[in-house]
Amino acid sequence: MIPINKPQLGEEEKREVMSVMEENALTSAASDGGKRVRDFESLMREYLGCKHVVAVNSGTAALHAALLAAEIGPGDEVLVPSFTFVATANAVVASGAKPVFVDVNKQDYTIDVSDAKRKTTKKTKAVIPVHLYGHPCDMDAVSELAQKRSLAVIEDACQSLGSTYKKRQTGTFGQMGCFSMYASKVLTSGEGGAITTDDSDLADKLKMIRNHGMVKGYDTRILGLNMRLPELAAAIAKVQMTKLAAMLAARRKNAELMSELLQGAAAKEVSLPQESDDRVFNWYLYTICFAKGAARDSVMARLQKEGIGATVYYDPPVHKTPYYRKFAARLPATEWCAGRVLSLPVHPGVQDGDVRRTAAEMALALSSPMAS
Ligand SMILES: *Cc1c(COP(=O)(O)O)cnc(C)c1O
Repeated sequence: MIPINKPQLGEEEKREVMSVMEENALTSAASDGGKRVRDFESLMREYLGCKHVVAVNSGTAALHAALLAAEIGPGDEVLVPSFTFVATANAVVASGAKPVFVDVNKQDYTIDVSDAKRKTTKKTKAVIPVHLYGHPCDMDAVSELAQKRSLAVIEDACQSLGSTYKKRQTGTFGQMGCFSMYASKVLTSGEGGAITTDDSDLADKLKMIRNHGMVKGYDTRILGLNMRLPELAAAIAKVQMTKLAAMLAARRKNAELMSELLQGAAAKEVSLPQESDDRVFNWYLYTICFAKGAARDSVMARLQKEGIGATVYYDPPVHKTPYYRKFAARLPATEWCAGRVLSLPVHPGVQDGDVRRTAAEMALALSSPMAS
């Protein structure tokens, strides 16, 4: 089976993990974190070109910490897309605020800012644009709305490490940007996360929030939790940072070949992901969209039968899950996309031949009567 994603781990990661074991330094409750945590943070800061990076133990924790740092809580509303991984909305609920679901654009699956504008009320305190599949949101439009309505912008960049909008890294546009190092992401430590900010006060606050609101031991000053990244995970993340450029280049090579091969076969039935000069993808997911939902399901079944891990992200969208039905909203484009998207494997472990086989199977599946 060619999985949709696969961690790329090697000898360097092993060596760094072993050194943590040898030093018997599994974690540090110091407010600046352990040695590997600090190393990882400085590598990520350099890569992104932002002032501060605070590592935490998941992307969910990153979002939760960012909301707490922005002092968002009960009585507040936060604009979030429903077409995302549920963590985006869960973090809002965990903060005590209410998620207000916003629709997406059908072309690139990112937040529809005109719908966000319509859904902004006096209670709205923040917006969380999600760079879904690694596709950068229209950050000019998001920033303009945020400025007009005094909203905090917290980017969910959990899928977009390395993607750029107008040549600037996603996750560096808002007051804070949130990243994940979960096993499926472009850079992984198994579990892990990070928050970026250019604001020193927010950075200090985030460090407190990840460590029970403490600064120098038992002196809890604000509400925090245990969101610390273990040194074993930081060791892996730190080495992965040095491989990030190469891993993204391998994804790009696979994605570009996929587009070239699917161009002819796809034509009317499916639309392919499109980069532009302003929006460069990290190719976290190579996501195509079918004109007809039934064709999506039959093509996916066929690819999976052939050992190609084609996968749907996200169907159902968050507002259609049992818990979130109470936050119902009118989201026609979200529902349209959820029924039609399909992601194909392009991770760095995918070989040229795998891409060719995927494209060939796609062509066969599209020409079979089942698909029409
Ligand atoms: C992965 C992901 C998260 C959550 O990250 P975890 O590290 O799994 O907690 C949040 N939002 C999006 C869009 C994600 O893809």
